[in-house]
Amino acid sequence: MNINIDNLQAEEFRLQQLANYLFGQSRASVGTSPSGIRLPDTGNVVNMKAPQTALPDPHFPSGGSGATDLAKLSTLSQLPIFDYMQYHQDYYFLKDRPVAQLPEMGNFPVDVLRKEFPILQEYVNGRPLVWLDNAATTQKPSCVIERISQFYRKENSNIHRAAHQLAARATDAYESARESVRSFINAGSSNEIVFVRGTTEGINLVAYTLGAGYLKSGDQVLISNLEHHANIVPWQQLRERIGIELVVIPVDDSGQIDMEAYKNLLTSKVKLVSFVQVSNALGTITPAKKMIQWAHAAGAKVLLDGAQSVSHMPIDLQELKPDFFVFSGHKVFGPTGIGVLYIQNDTLDELPAWQGGGNMIRDVRFDNTTYQNGHARFEAGTGNIADAVGLGAALEFLRTIGMHSIAAYEHQLLLYATEKLKQVPGLEIIGKAADKASVLSFTLADFSNESVGKHLDEHGIAVRTGHHCAQPILRRFGQETTVRPSLAFYNTKEEIDWLQDALFKLISQR
Ligand code: PLP
Repeated sequence: MNINIDNLQAEEFRLQQLANYLFGQSRASVGTSPSGIRLPDTGNVVNMKAPQTALPDPHFPSGGSGATDLAKLSTLSQLPIFDYMQYHQDYYFLKDRPVAQLPEMGNFPVDVLRKEFPILQEYVNGRPLVWLDNAATTQKPSCVIERISQFYRKENSNIHRAAHQLAARATDAYESARESVRSFINAGSSNEIVFVRGTTEGINLVAYTLGAGYLKSGDQVLISNLEHHANIVPWQQLRERIGIELVVIPVDDSGQIDMEAYKNLLTSKVKLVSFVQVSNALGTITPAKKMIQWAHAAGAKVLLDGAQSVSHMPIDLQELKPDFFVFSGHKVFGPTGIGVLYIQNDTLDELPAWQGGGNMIRDVRFDNTTYQNGHARFEAGTGNIADAVGLGAALEFLRTIGMHSIAAYEHQLLLYATEKLKQVPGLEIIGKAADKASVLSFTLADFSNESVGKHLDEHGIAVRTGHHCAQPILRRFGQETTVRPSLAFYNTKEEIDWLQDALFKLISQR
């Protein structure tokens, strides 16, 4: 194996950060501060108008509940993580790497990481909880839970607008979270990061603002057959409002985008292509980079729905180059009620304002109001400050583990789970694309999907049954509903074995 020294140094740094998380050093030691104030206990001079990042913040006691327990359990040198992290490959897109050459799953410190998630120690119906409903929402690590608690204990204030200590701390924390988001998705600037309620709100914001000028009656918006309702309904509403045409890119029988059909649909009438990076119903990973390049070559803007991709693979927006990217905090181990809309800089100032109110204005007079530039223009009113800070903590946590490592581990787990499910007589997997992440939708002959879900719940196994808010794609495969286990990096082979055992028990009742 070729080992790149720069990569190794980066990994060492990341390991050190991981050690900080796991073994109890300060978890909230970076921040930004608003202006005009010298914080007496830190000596930081804060800048209200242009907050800076990475000032040390001593307001947090070192360690936390999860960290203390973990410290008793293990030491960093026992963590078999290092070999694993030497891999800087994107397995999903590396077609020429045989599966046999992937690192062993055993190298990923899943048992240690699971202990960071208190809810994974729960029992349900007398059995250890097996959380396989990650596509619906993910569980939260202690560092996120503690970070939100610390915010309310030590920092709570409205942001940006006051000249007191707590406003400085809260603004620090909020702007620092924005920087964590920027770095996690490799956006060019934190100015491009708008905090919203979630993916749904982000897509609605884009539909509304593009519909106020950029899109005109008769223009086409392309979406794919794979989309979640959140990426269908706002465009239908826009069709009603201004008369755009909504055109659907078909998928092939494996559940992958039909690229030939896509190419033919990309005419000069298309002004926007809006599609999902990972399908929540089938798990298909779409060829996003190529689709974006083709759309841009045809003169269209692109919205990429990252709701199901951010928790499973590294995201590099400067490489992918979408005009918009959206995701929800709760699907990436962060809180509910907070999400991110990335708007690429060139598009940012072309868009009209969305909601009006405080924070988004520069100057208000009865006869005329001027607006802020950049992300502030889209963040009217008081946002979800504490949960933005919680989301920042979640992304920092993931960064310390490493998204390449997570992607590789999950890929192996998905292959393992697929094989295990295939062994269950009468089970049909819905969605067989070559590139998939996390999701295993299936039906089981002779059993309703609901009864399968209930049976699994009796065994402590949480899966989703239903239409997964993606009815068009399920109907494409002749289904109204499916059973949908979905994986995250804290799931294990053992849990998959329990899932298979429970399904065998069910079919023995046939
Ligand atoms: N897009 C996709 C692909 C999803 O999976 C989901 C949620 O499941 C959404 C959008 C909507 O996300 P939220 O409900 O967090 O706004």
